Amino acid sequence: MKTASSPTPTETAPATSIGQWSADDASSLARKTDVQKSRVIFGTTLFVVFVCAALLVMNAWLVVRARTAENEQIARANTNLARAVSQQIESTVALAEHISSGLVFELERSDITPDTLQRLQPVLVNHTSEVQAIRGLFIYDEQGRWLVHSEASAAGSRNNSDREYFIHHRINPSARTLISGPIVSRSSGEWVIPVSRRINDPNGNFAGVVLVTLSVKHLLAVLDRFQIGEQGAIALFRTDQLLVRRPFREADMSRRNTDSPLQQRFQASRSGTVEGRSAIDGVTRIISFEHLLDYPLFVTVAAGKDEALREWKSASIYQTTWVVLLCLIIGVSGRYLIRSMRRRLVAELHLRSARDALTEANERLEHLAQEDGLTGLANRRYFDARLVLNFQQALESQMALAVVMVDVDEFKKYNDLYGHLEGDECLRRAAQALRSAVWRSGDLVARYGGEEMVLLLPATDADGALEVAQRARLAVADLQIPHAATGRGIVSVSLGVAAWVPQPGSTPFELLKAADEALYLAKEGGRNTVKVHG
Ligand code: GH3
Ligand code: MG
Ligand code: MG
Repeated sequence: MKTASSPTPTETAPATSIGQWSADDASSLARKTDVQKSRVIFGTTLFVVFVCAALLVMNAWLVVRARTAENEQIARANTNLARAVSQQIESTVALAEHISSGLVFELERSDITPDTLQRLQPVLVNHTSEVQAIRGLFIYDEQGRWLVHSEASAAGSRNNSDREYFIHHRINPSARTLISGPIVSRSSGEWVIPVSRRINDPNGNFAGVVLVTLSVKHLLAVLDRFQIGEQGAIALFRTDQLLVRRPFREADMSRRNTDSPLQQRFQASRSGTVEGRSAIDGVTRIISFEHLLDYPLFVTVAAGKDEALREWKSASIYQTTWVVLLCLIIGVSGRYLIRSMRRRLVAELHLRSARDALTEANERLEHLAQEDGLTGLANRRYFDARLVLNFQQALESQMALAVVMVDVDEFKKYNDLYGHLEGDECLRRAAQALRSAVWRSGDLVARYGGEEMVLLLPATDADGALEVAQRARLAVADLQIPHAATGRGIVSVSLGVAAWVPQPGSTPFELLKAADEALYLAKEGGRNTVKVHG
């Protein structure tokens, strides 16, 4: 946007431009607005990304936390179960030990005679039938021969001297109870766990063995009462060997403990919970173990990891699906929002540039409307408006306002002699000359009509205006445009000056009229001259 809608470089800015923003101001403001909008878009994008990331991180944290809680809960349940099973096993073994030690005491106190044995036989049968966990009771002599037993069906001449526990007691003087690995009973054909003690004669020599067999079937029935899931397992171990395990598999019964990291963990403390892959069936489990207080045995209760975490897994998948869905909704709507913001910004930019183009076109039109087509000076319409404005300003500021009327001398003859086209060119050059004679930015040179032009000089008194008028006259004369029809031989102008401080009640018309009168005098005075009114 140009600062002034004036057609010439010599005029002041029109009143309409006072107080308006410059084009630079407007475009810098627009730039600032664009930067702010870009920031808003960037901020919105960042916010959407942050919200989605926060949701995903929070979901991951919740999933991990739920898993930790689930693990803790499984460990707690397993530990309680292991404790309950170990207590039950402990009391069963204690009972077997109690019975065997009672029999040993009885046998060592008295001679082992047929009478003694006959007396003990119903006692053995009674114990076996009363205590479900006990499968059988046996007394062997120092040769391993069956002296007395609880088995009603077993034949008399049997020998168990080859059994591991028998050999142990024969060579080991210890009176302690021995719990051996599971064996298949020779009398019943069932799996049993031998609990045995050595019998000494009065001299402390080996005199035989008392054997209590624990029914594996019964122990399994006890273990079966606990709920451990499909992949769960409960087992009773001796330090070096598996004694009984649910689920039962014949092949596992002779299994020896390897020196695996899992077994090392079981041996490292009295109780605890570990996670590991079973060497027996290859299933990964969460295993709680508990050692019996008085015997070198320990119980393990294991929950299948996949099975135990199945609920957590499905809940986590469900929750994660929703969170991802939520993120997608936020992402898509955020993207839509950002895109529409971007579209609006682009539309605004287009609108703004269209508005700027329109403003510029308007200014150009306005400019053209104020310009004289032939000379490029301000036209009459513009001059009239400026005269009123400058007159008002002069009235308010009480400063002189000058009007200089200019008329080309004997121009009719010039036209007649050189033609209208030459006449036009002459007018154009004379106009340029007048323009060069006024120097102040507030001065205006306008075409008044025909070959008459006018200078409007604000804040200029009669002397000043006379000076400018003389300069203008000389400027035209200096063009040396030939005019053969005059006595001077060149084109000249006559000028009438009127200048005063406007008084209230006076009108611009009076000033104009006075200048015109002075011009008349100049013409009267021989042309190519300047006359000042009054
Ligand atoms: P004077 O010295 O008394 O002013 O004599 P003059 O011939 O200049 O005065 P007059 O008013 O009789 O003639 C003015 C002439 O100016 C009439 C017209 O042919 C000519 N004229 C007015 N406007 C134009 C214009 O736009 N182009 C041309 N070529 N001539 C114009
Ligand atoms: Mg004239
Ligand atoms: Mg004339």
